[in-house]
Amino acid sequence: MTAPDGDPPVPGLRSRLAAAVGPDHVLTDPAVTMSYGTDWTGRWRARPLAVVRPGSTAEVAATIRVCADAGVPVVPQGGNTGLVGGSVPRGDGRMVVLSTRRLATVGPLDRGTRSLVVGAGASLSDVHRAAARVGLRYAVDLAARDSATVGGTVATNAAGLRALGLGDTRRQVVGVEAVLADGTVVDDVTGPPAGRDGFPLAGLLCGSEGTLAVITAARLRLGAPPAVPPVTLLVGLASPADALALLDQPGLTAAELLLRPGLELVCRVGGLPDPLPRAWPAYLLLEVEGEPVLPDDVDAVVDPRVWAYREGMTDAIATLGIPHKLDVALPVDAVPAFVAELPAVVTPFAVHPFGHLGVGNVHVNVVDVGSGPGRDPDRAGLDAVDERVVRLVHRHGGAVAAEHGIGVAKVQWVGPDPVRTRLKRALDPAGLLNPGVATSMR
Ligand SMILES: Cc1cc2nc3c(=O)[nH]c(=O)nc-3n(C[C@H](O)[C@H](O)[C@H](O)COP(=O)(O)OP(=O)(O)OC[C@H]3O[C@@H](n4cnc5c(N)ncnc54)[C@H](O)[C@@H]3O)c2cc1C
Repeated sequence: MTAPDGDPPVPGLRSRLAAAVGPDHVLTDPAVTMSYGTDWTGRWRARPLAVVRPGSTAEVAATIRVCADAGVPVVPQGGNTGLVGGSVPRGDGRMVVLSTRRLATVGPLDRGTRSLVVGAGASLSDVHRAAARVGLRYAVDLAARDSATVGGTVATNAAGLRALGLGDTRRQVVGVEAVLADGTVVDDVTGPPAGRDGFPLAGLLCGSEGTLAVITAARLRLGAPPAVPPVTLLVGLASPADALALLDQPGLTAAELLLRPGLELVCRVGGLPDPLPRAWPAYLLLEVEGEPVLPDDVDAVVDPRVWAYREGMTDAIATLGIPHKLDVALPVDAVPAFVAELPAVVTPFAVHPFGHLGVGNVHVNVVDVGSGPGRDPDRAGLDAVDERVVRLVHRHGGAVAAEHGIGVAKVQWVGPDPVRTRLKRALDPAGLLNPGVATSMR
């Protein structure tokens, strides 16, 4: 295989990959591979040297060994719904995308520990369905549930819609199986769930963003469903600050903040009706396992279908053009002031903030609406805005890394992390796995 654009040739790579996974599962036609090389937002795009689709852990290991021998970097990819650019190559024709989608086994379930072994390529929806079949539930859920994979959610430590009440991915992962950068398979998934004598891999690989190992399977903890059906309601608010008083109630599993311009956009794009009789500057979606506690005069609608307003937000914003997304974490009390100050900071661009208020996680979406869909946004202008948003985050005591991970989008703002750096050097000395992601080192 010869890498175009003057990149060094990699003789025989295609045939060696084909020997590892079968010729049908090595894709090199750019008409096919570009979808693997383009991230969900469309902001990051590079042609993969090849896309490899292993169907077993042994095939993942063989793929990794071939790439390691050839010195070709590997980008692990699950559902490619990541929003920080970590799931696609950097540089045309330089990296192999290792797609885990064929590693989609679900089960076995261990009834005693209520834990389910799942292949890395299974989707979150696959896990939810399997849990529901045995009267249990899996805590992590997000709008991209049909595409986002177990491996991707572990690798990003995804939090999602119910992290407030049920915890993020790290809290649900009991064990993982993975392939290290030299092809070694490490496994604390098979065998009895209680029998653990090795290093606790799950903690190490949750949030590692494909930089330390390729996750091939995980053992996930399932929980009991709520004792009473949850109540979902959308509350109209005079300002985001009014939302804070509603967070203190028993049984709260989700508390999602929306602002009026974002809600109008979702209504327009999704053809949804205005949810309340009058328009409010802000809205809080609450999910409560129990009886919600609300002031008497509040304007609210109780209906599980209000999730559509929150879940449609990311897709609706994408119709405005390629958004600059900064997913940030703030002290919960600081969120109202932060979102109030954002429009001035991002000027002349539009901003649609929303997010998981209950855990202080705000998704800042800055859009060059002047460029419109299909036209080039003012990239330099948007980059400069990112810098200003990050300064605002820090001024409010927040952090730039949150549930979406660091990816390539945030590398420039995260300081050197001595633990991450040493782990990377120890486990992947040649910098084979997802170089440039999460850390500026190879
Ligand atoms: C509409 C929408 C809503 C979303 N809502 C949320 C939300 O509420 N909460 C949230 O946290 N995220 C959310 N996301 C972001 C995204 O869905 C998550 O980051 C998800 O965990 C990514 O899973 P994936 O399988 O698509 O991973 P990918 O996008 O394929 O990859 C993400 C990262 O994980 C690495 N990776 C993937 N698979 C593996 C593997 N098997 N082994 C090692 N590394 C791997 C990749 O290299 C990359 O760095 C949303 C995205 C969309 C499009």
